[in-house]
Amino acid sequence: MTAISMGLKEYAHKRHFDKTSEPKPDERVAHGANRGGFFCVQRHDATRLHYDFLLEVDGVLVSGAVPKGPSLDPKRKALAMKVEDHPFSYGTFEGNIPQGEYGGGSVMLWDKGTYEVLGDLNAEGQIERGDFKFALHGTKLNGAFAIVQMKHAGKGNEWLLIKKQDEFVIPGYDIDEYAWSVATKRNQDEIARDVAPSGPADLKGVKKAAL
Ligand code: MN
Repeated sequence: MTAISMGLKEYAHKRHFDKTSEPKPDERVAHGANRGGFFCVQRHDATRLHYDFLLEVDGVLVSGAVPKGPSLDPKRKALAMKVEDHPFSYGTFEGNIPQGEYGGGSVMLWDKGTYEVLGDLNAEGQIERGDFKFALHGTKLNGAFAIVQMKHAGKGNEWLLIKKQDEFVIPGYDIDEYAWSVATKRNQDEIARDVAPSGPADLKGVKKAAL
C-alpha cells in the first residue's frame, strides 16, 4: 500500500483537462489527524457501470472502483479495486466525461457525507495494515464498515468493502433501487443527457431532510 503517497500525478497523467470537466489536481486541503473527513460514492457509467468510493485521507480522496457498488447487507462483500488518489474537489463532481477520454461516460454523485475512523489507529495507519474500519454518515450509506485488503491476490490493489452489523443493515440490499443523485436528484440517463430531473423522483432510502 504505497499508493497513498503517490499523490495526484497518476490522476493528472490519465486525464486531458482541456477535454474533460473533471477537476484539475489541486493543493491538498488542510488535514487533521486522519481520524475521518469527507466521503462520497459516484455511480459511473463508463465502459462498465461501476461505483467509485472516495474517502478523504491526508488531504486527497483515496479511491476505489467497486464494480457492484457498496452494500448495506453484511453478507454481500463488495470487491473494491484501489485506483489512483483523486483531488479533494472531485467529491462534488457530477457530469459527463467525454467519450474517448479516460473514464468516458456519465458520473452521478450517488452519495456523500462524512466518515469517522473506528479504533485507535488513524486512517493512514489502518490502510497501511490493510484493515480499515470506519463509520459513514451519508444520505444513503450509514453505519460501520470495514475495508480489508486481499493480501494474497494480485498486486495488492484488491480490497473487500464489508458492512458491519448495526442498526443500518438492510438484508438483501439492492443498490439499483437507489439510482439517483444526492446532488441533483437526477437519474443516470438525465445526467448523461444533461437535463433537469424529471421528478417527482422516487428518492428511496433517504431521510428527505438530508437533501
Ligand atoms: Mn470510475
